[in-house]
Amino acid sequence: MKRSPFYRAPDPFPQLSAFRKFICLLCVVLVCLLAALVLLFLLPLSKPVKVEPVSLSLVSAAPAPASPPLSFSEKGKSFSASSLAEEPEEPKASTASWELVLVNGSHPLQEGYVPELSTLEGSGEQFDSRAIGPLEEMLRAMESEGLNPTVCSAYRTQETQEALFQNRIDRFLADGVNPDEVENLAAQRVARPGTSEHQLGLAADIVSAEYQQLVEEQENTPEQQWLLTHCTEYGFILRYPREKTGLTGVIYEPWHYRYVGEEAAKEITEQGLCLEEYLEQMVSPS
Ligand SMILES: [Zn+2]
Repeated sequence: MKRSPFYRAPDPFPQLSAFRKFICLLCVVLVCLLAALVLLFLLPLSKPVKVEPVSLSLVSAAPAPASPPLSFSEKGKSFSASSLAEEPEEPKASTASWELVLVNGSHPLQEGYVPELSTLEGSGEQFDSRAIGPLEEMLRAMESEGLNPTVCSAYRTQETQEALFQNRIDRFLADGVNPDEVENLAAQRVARPGTSEHQLGLAADIVSAEYQQLVEEQENTPEQQWLLTHCTEYGFILRYPREKTGLTGVIYEPWHYRYVGEEAAKEITEQGLCLEEYLEQMVSPS
């Protein structure tokens, strides 16, 4: 059957067609709304300078400028938070403290320096009043363990040091040592006057009462064995170790103990340093 060109087939679902039109219209409206919303929200982001400060702070993605690293200084030495985080083992004691005053061949004592002194029980030797407590405590601890320590030399006056130094020179001369060399040789065994830790009042020569020789064999006495293990607990260090003579300028003296305070004593001994190295490390940590 031939159909007229104007023929229109009857719509089998006229209601659905209307529904489709409605859906299409709804979609267009929703897309427009969505586009409008997107534009409203994105516009401030693309032009942050023009929006008000409040909305800027809410939408700004720029990171806050990095705050400068926290830093502080302690007695002339500055630390920063980052360096502290990297170097937690950095010594905390200060070079300015009285316990850490360096006295050696190239660091003479302040002229005329005399510490406030107290007399040691028993030996009659004198020591810096601020450190005599730990020294006496250490000696008592040794005695309580059946040991017999003797302090044969502690604080020395300038005159005493001069007499000791001259005495050492005389002995070398008597032994036939070249007079041009005696003074330097003597200085390795007895500090030149004005450069002795004994004049500082913080050094004590401690020996075994049964073996009072200032020789290397002193290290084998039970008293020295005890001191090598426990002296740091009382704030003392073995000041002139065998392997540090090149740095201290003094021969190995397994009887000469120096008070530096408990914290420094432990750090120096644990790190295998001498006082010179420890102080150098404090001034310019590697
Ligand atoms: Zn000494």
